[in-house]
Amino acid sequence: MTTADLHLHTLYSDGTDTPRRVVELAKQAGLSAIAITDHDILDGYPEAFHAATELGIELLPGLEMSASSDGREVHVLGFLIDLADQPFQQLLADQRLRRIERIHEMIARLQRLGVVVTADDVFAEAGVEGTVGRPHVARALVRRGYVSTAKEAFDRYIGNHAPAYIPGSPMGPREAIHAIRQAGGVPVLAHPIYLKDDTVIEQLSREGLVGLEVYHSSHSPELIAHYEQLADHLGLLRTGGTDYHGSSKEGVPIGSVTVPYALVEALKQWKQNR
Ligand code: AMP
Ligand code: FE
Ligand code: FE
Ligand code: ZN
Repeated sequence: MTTADLHLHTLYSDGTDTPRRVVELAKQAGLSAIAITDHDILDGYPEAFHAATELGIELLPGLEMSASSDGREVHVLGFLIDLADQPFQQLLADQRLRRIERIHEMIARLQRLGVVVTADDVFAEAGVEGTVGRPHVARALVRRGYVSTAKEAFDRYIGNHAPAYIPGSPMGPREAIHAIRQAGGVPVLAHPIYLKDDTVIEQLSREGLVGLEVYHSSHSPELIAHYEQLADHLGLLRTGGTDYHGSSKEGVPIGSVTVPYALVEALKQWKQNR
């Protein structure tokens, strides 16, 4: 059966592999299609596209947009985005600038806690071209020796209930859904397990959400069955993927969560008929 993995990160956000490497690994895993879904950025696409063309694997334009609702983080995947859409690219550039400001705010909090790490340490972890975020703060804290793992960095300092946490995106999920649709894309709620609230999914499905990420490396078989039913009940398309982050997230290699290619066709069909 031909299968796809529709949730992969590269070093354009908080993954650790180049887009080319991600495509190579997907090919080795025997996948026929993938989507690279970096946080708030589409810039990994051209490099990945070259590799995908060479290796004969299909690449869908994609991303994962950060939003927040009532203090909760909501991630919205966007598939089949029109890459030339300038207003959307501008929106993403603004989101990334806000992320840079946020790093400075988190650094100030950390310094008040006696943790001496600089914004430049964090930007060095992120590289120059991509999206900077908390995983890069975590890596800087590991490098400086304040914690021994990224998980410890989240638990002690930058996790959602930890003292140096600054909320991420000022955008609501409804805005993210709208922006993705405006750019020709298909909006899909990522990893609903982290939301733990089906009423939000119901609400978003009335506000333009098109799909639900039913299959994800953090979903148990029971949860998958639950989200399959919920997606059908709400008329949402199903998607799925590994949420691969390279060496920064162990135990979930590319291709460990896949979906049948028919679900990719359903996304394309929706875009065509919109
Ligand atoms: P940000 O978008 O900057 O708020 O960072 C969110 C990203 O951090 C998520 O997409 C995950 O990759 C990662 N993350 C969130 N919570 C944790 C955690 N507790 N441990 C490790 N990584 C996490
Ligand atoms: Fe991430
Ligand atoms: Fe996510
Ligand atoms: Zn992700």
